[in-house]
Amino acid sequence: MTPYWRDSAKCAGRSEIWEDPDGQDYAVALCHRCPVRRECLQDMLAHGVPCSSQVRGGVVIRRSDGDAAERKRVMRAVRRAAQEVGV
Ligand code: SF4
Repeated sequence: MTPYWRDSAKCAGRSEIWEDPDGQDYAVALCHRCPVRRECLQDMLAHGVPCSSQVRGGVVIRRSDGDAAERKRVMRAVRRAAQEVGV
């Protein structure tokens, strides 16, 4: 079941923005204006980072092939972003 907060997300119903490899900057900016960014970051802290996204919660997820070092970098970035928004 989709958490209710996702209904208010700036990315709701706009999956195309995650599929454009040249759209990362736009996606990051969108996340920073999203009213549910806190909930989004909390969700990643609790459940991990979705591998299907290039950007989530304002964090760039896929710049390389997603190896272990990259996954650690992403989770550090998620924790940092979460702290910035008071999660
Ligand atoms: S912060 Fe970004 S990825 Fe998360 S719900 Fe909002 S728009 Fe979507």
